[in-house]
Amino acid sequence: MGFTVAIDGPAAAGKGTIAKRLAAHYGFAYLDTGLLYRAIGRVASQRGLDLDDGATMGTVALALDPAILDDGSLRGREAGELASRVAVHAPVRAALTEFQRGFARRPGGAVLDGRDIGTVICPEAEAKIFVTASPEVRARRRTDELHAKGRAVDYETILDEVLARDRRDTGRATAPLRAAPDAALLDTSELDIEEAFQAACRIVDASLHRRNGA
Ligand code: C5P
Repeated sequence: MGFTVAIDGPAAAGKGTIAKRLAAHYGFAYLDTGLLYRAIGRVASQRGLDLDDGATMGTVALALDPAILDDGSLRGREAGELASRVAVHAPVRAALTEFQRGFARRPGGAVLDGRDIGTVICPEAEAKIFVTASPEVRARRRTDELHAKGRAVDYETILDEVLARDRRDTGRATAPLRAAPDAALLDTSELDIEEAFQAACRIVDASLHRRNGA
């Protein structure tokens, strides 16, 4: 029987790391749905297309070759920015819905992380977690990550990027970022990654027990 863990939250709150670790811990498949939007933004900009044209972006989304998702550079800042621009378009989101739902219902269980998994893609997910942290903490973590990779970025620039991305993701008309009413809130501002992961496990364990009627 399928079991879906839906993880949503703003950029750099730690949801990717938590989602990946949960998938490994429970033996579930993992889908980073942000990569889908990143890939569409990348392909569209490489082809010189208008990222603000929803119909054109929808056709790019329909023709997306999943092989591109393995491209490690998609995780960079530039692709993230392109992603949040193409993600505002309803045709783009519609083109990706079926693929994500199919993934979520695979028999062995699945963890998906994104912005609208618990609200739009899998409202019936057995476990829903909304992972947040203050913008300042998220910007600090992102800055430290980039410094560790040898990039010269300053905290203020990253904080501006985090706030701009929050505004775009929460302010859009289609599938805005928000917690599902039945999602468990996990604020990681004061937690290290191990503590955040343990808290997420407690939430999933409780859902598993509920599903199993224990
Ligand atoms: O999670 P990640 O930072 O890779 O997402 C990049 C952007 O893609 C987000 O800022 C958001 O605009 C968009 N996105 C989305 N819905 C998802 C996943 C990502 O709109 N399920």
